[in-house]
Amino acid sequence: MVPYGTVDEPEVEPWRLPPRLGLRRLDRINPSSYQSLKLCRLKGVWIGTHARQLLPSSPQAHLGRIIHKVLEMAGSGQIDAEADFDGAWQACLEEEERKISTSWNERHFTLLSKAIDDYEVRREQCRLLTNEIIAKGPRIASQEGKGAVRERFIQTSDGAVGGYPDLITFAQGGAMISDFKTGRIFDPDAEPLLKTLDEGYAMQLKLYACAVVSTYGVMPISLRIEGLDGSKHKVTFDVSECDAILGEARRTLGEINSIIESPNLSHGEKLSALASPSPHSCKFCRYRPCCPPYLSQRAKDPEAGWPVDASGEVAEKKVLGNGKLIIRLKAKDSPNAVAVRGLDPCRHPALDPLPKRAYLFDLDKETSTQCLRQNMFTTIFVD
Ligand code: SF4
Repeated sequence: MVPYGTVDEPEVEPWRLPPRLGLRRLDRINPSSYQSLKLCRLKGVWIGTHARQLLPSSPQAHLGRIIHKVLEMAGSGQIDAEADFDGAWQACLEEEERKISTSWNERHFTLLSKAIDDYEVRREQCRLLTNEIIAKGPRIASQEGKGAVRERFIQTSDGAVGGYPDLITFAQGGAMISDFKTGRIFDPDAEPLLKTLDEGYAMQLKLYACAVVSTYGVMPISLRIEGLDGSKHKVTFDVSECDAILGEARRTLGEINSIIESPNLSHGEKLSALASPSPHSCKFCRYRPCCPPYLSQRAKDPEAGWPVDASGEVAEKKVLGNGKLIIRLKAKDSPNAVAVRGLDPCRHPALDPLPKRAYLFDLDKETSTQCLRQNMFTTIFVD
């Protein structure tokens, strides 16, 4: 479906597909992305080595960054009065929106207050949490291992696992580790009434627990997920369980790096050995446009419920009365053309001038797989 060359390209025309994404050694496992890495090692490597992400992040992810930043400012004493919240929020919002506005495939999210339905609710939730943190006083440790530390890098003794937990509070008897989540907290696949904590979050905290032991020499006595709505959720754990998760993470890191550094495998063989393509793991993956294992697996099993992506020769492009575009794509192995409607020309520079081939990611189905429509994440690449 997509041709591959040999090197990563600079973003001169970022809607041109890079020939391929490189593979670099993974220095450590970050607890916050360990769940992604367990789902697909290739995705975990690309996230962990900061490979260029080709599909846009969601507006909610951008809002989450603003919320984390404001809470971090409150925790470090940069906001020390309730009245400072509005100014801090505005400064963080402007900074995030400035980044979005310079991104070729995210700039239509620029006004986050319009792109996110519950923007105001989440802002007010953040205000309440900020006030709570201010009321408790700044949480800066005067000395490592005493008081509390926020967003400080910790790692295991061998450096295999390391990251930045949101908050570590030291108390008599041990340390308490908390992580804030601005999105959902419960496992979406579990029985809703049981409100089962997302297993990935629990694993993240257990890995942080191992890193706290190595960094500060104290045992964690409490692990907690905190929601933006003020809810607090205890993660049950024991030392042997944390050690087992750490052992698995270390083994995984070793296996990944031995594949990446193998002199006997081609680049394509390394990608295949690391990838676990499935509708579930690939759905929100921002590397799909440049992931050969994904593209070949969906070609082998087209009915498996993959994300709605399409590609082919562009047989026709029409501008409709409402200013939107419709294009017709002819796939190599299908007699029927696919129509894609509702395309906003300002969002898709790849369609001007008319390309020979186009690769479209994240579409909505209309009446059938032959009739598709743009949604807020639709991104179009050309060769
Ligand atoms: S597209 Fe799928 S197979 Fe490829 S890296 Fe992402 S999750 Fe893994």
